[in-house]
Amino acid sequence: MYTTYVFRSIERKERIKTPCVECGKMVTRTVTASQTLNPFNVTASGKPKTEYQIRLELPAELEKNVKWQKKNAKCKAHGDR
Ligand SMILES: [Zn+2]
Repeated sequence: MYTTYVFRSIERKERIKTPCVECGKMVTRTVTASQTLNPFNVTASGKPKTEYQIRLELPAELEKNVKWQKKNAKCKAHGDR
């Protein structure tokens, strides 16, 4: 007998259009930020994060991922997905 824990993932998505860094052609990307609600996902003070805390953190994480995509987005011509 064992117990299966199902940890809920909290996610935020944003679709962006950004120019390819090589040729300037517009590419569309779905950028996501997600964190799992589980006992190991803890705050700086060592307490498990609540759903509310995760939801507060996700916009900043999403913003970071959007910036990264804008700096690195390449179109299919350059072998990117
Ligand atoms: Zn390109």
